[in-house]
Amino acid sequence: MPIALYNTLTRKVEPFTPVTPGRVRMYTCGLTVYDYGHIGNFRTFVGVDILQRFLQSQGLALDTVMNITDVDDKMIARSNEAGRPLAEYAATYTAAFLEDMASLRILPAQHIVRATDCIPDMVAWIDRLVAAGCAYERDGSVYFRLSSFPAYGRLSGKDIAGLQAGARVDVDEYEKEEARDFVLWKAARPNEPTWPSPWGPGRPGWHIECSVMAEKLLGPTLDLHCGGTDLVFPHHENEIAQVEPLTGVPFVNCWIHMEFLLVNGEKMSKRLGNFFTVRDLTDKGYRPSAIRYLLASVPYRRQLNFTLEGLDQASASLLRLRNFLDRLRNADLPPSGDPNPAIATAREAMLASLADNLNTAEALGAIFELVRTSNIALDRGTLATADREAILETFRQFDEIFQVLTPDEASSEGISDAEVNALMEERAAARAARDFKKADALRQQLESHGILIEDVKNAPARWRRK
Ligand code: AMP
Ligand code: ZN
Repeated sequence: MPIALYNTLTRKVEPFTPVTPGRVRMYTCGLTVYDYGHIGNFRTFVGVDILQRFLQSQGLALDTVMNITDVDDKMIARSNEAGRPLAEYAATYTAAFLEDMASLRILPAQHIVRATDCIPDMVAWIDRLVAAGCAYERDGSVYFRLSSFPAYGRLSGKDIAGLQAGARVDVDEYEKEEARDFVLWKAARPNEPTWPSPWGPGRPGWHIECSVMAEKLLGPTLDLHCGGTDLVFPHHENEIAQVEPLTGVPFVNCWIHMEFLLVNGEKMSKRLGNFFTVRDLTDKGYRPSAIRYLLASVPYRRQLNFTLEGLDQASASLLRLRNFLDRLRNADLPPSGDPNPAIATAREAMLASLADNLNTAEALGAIFELVRTSNIALDRGTLATADREAILETFRQFDEIFQVLTPDEASSEGISDAEVNALMEERAAARAARDFKKADALRQQLESHGILIEDVKNAPARWRRK
């Protein structure tokens, strides 16, 4: 199926064609591990995951890289405040990040690279930029010379014609109005970790890590580069400038940027303090699958306003899908020849919506329409076994990408299907042995996990989740 994606560089939805047919080289900017990730961060990572899983479902092989920013201005400030060595501080939040990613069922990149693991590569790359005349040293720091790269500003639509030549910016994050010669290497300062370099001890600026890792592991030309929309300027603009003068070819063919998760109309961010972590929400009893569902339900280029009511609705929608599947699996259906063609039409609509720049809302619409018509057919007794197989296959393809239907194993009420089945078997054995006290205790145990049991005459009891 032809895939179309919105490319920030061209400002158009374009047909997606990887450089190497059948293989996609894809880079995602990861987390700055100075704290737990918030669900705004995870909106971006869930969006990237839907993209990855959709590409895989279309038969494409992926080569994926994600960085972990474990040294930058914020990391150093926070580890100093906490009085903990940078590496140890970063390790705590890197582990938490990977755990949260797993609980949200986000496929880990094949290469997850810490910035501090590739500092010699960064130093070598900066050295080449200096030799090529694109960078220069001042007082032990090295800056990128903006005037050496006329294409600067193409990605963000920034016009740099009137910039003051030679003005410099030392911080990692800044606004468009402050576009200047930006820092590649920062000279040592008190209370900062340092590494050796030809310009004396120091540490890398933030922007260089992604350029160097992406070029080394996926270059010279990447098919996709992803991140939140706040990274367009200056981070991604700088990434392009750091790579293209040395490779002479486009760094990235298609730039993908995820829109913000908002709270009361403002970007969810650490700085504003208006954030929830995944842990905050699971502590309140929400399930990671419901969080993922909510984050995935709005197409990635639309802003998503987060509320707890919205998360309640996401949980309810998910329950509706799971209950429908329970009903379908357990229904006594007449056998029949061919499935109703409307089921294949729904499946095609779901996949076509995703192929159209990942329109997840429309894909979910197709799935809920299938639930609605199938429930009516179940009520009327017009659904047959071949239909059931076709519907289950549609849901399998849906969940290959959305990853929300399997119940969460590690939630507060967490109990896996395998555990439920084992307890059900134990209960059946107790009943067969007429040990009704034990059977009742097992029923209560299952109910406490939200499992409803339905005893059936002359057949094994059935169960479903509340
Ligand atoms: P950071 O650790 O700040 O570099 O952010 C990690 C990723 O999360 C980046 O791709 C950001 O663009 C993204 N991000 C940060 N805040 C939000 C938000 N409120 N909504 C969506 N993505 C975000
Ligand atoms: Zn990056």
